[in-house]
Amino acid sequence: MVKIVKVVNTILEMIVMAAGGIDDACDSFFQDAFRMAEFALKKKEVPVGCVVVYEERVIARGCNEVNLTKNATRHAELVAIDHLIEYCKKNSLPMEKVCCSATIYVTVEPCIMCAFALRTVGLVDVLYGCSNDRFGGCGSVLDVSRGCGDSKLPELKARSVKLANVAEKAMGLLQEFYKGANPNTQF
Ligand SMILES: [Zn+2]
Repeated sequence: MVKIVKVVNTILEMIVMAAGGIDDACDSFFQDAFRMAEFALKKKEVPVGCVVVYEERVIARGCNEVNLTKNATRHAELVAIDHLIEYCKKNSLPMEKVCCSATIYVTVEPCIMCAFALRTVGLVDVLYGCSNDRFGGCGSVLDVSRGCGDSKLPELKARSVKLANVAEKAMGLLQEFYKGANPNTQF
């Protein structure tokens, strides 16, 4: 009986350690995404950043480049998708295969346009920092994670991350930006 209890305790410890490892990795990917968002803020762009992780490595990054490019569609996620396409071409990897095992870490819930774009390319595993109450496409304003006229597209598995301070930090960056900006600017 004592032996069984010991084995159970060891297994429980291993599970806790593994969970901690996952949290640490997740936190580090979010810190990377925040560096992108901070870079955007310095450039007077809406501070949203993201990274795409495949086989536990960051293979693409993005931040808003709307002002830089004078193109309203250059949101962080779409910039990252372009880098992801380049990565796949360079490494002769099929985009669909990479997308279905990759995760995108984005500081703010993707907007409706970006959420649908992520579904279209099959990059459906989405972790975000804070919700996007103005334009969110993963439930805050509209939920385009399934259906929406194309049942053939895979379902988006978007959820907010449960890490301490991530949502606060993401929201804090947006608040800093909007202090002196047009409140109608889109994320
Ligand atoms: Zn967007």
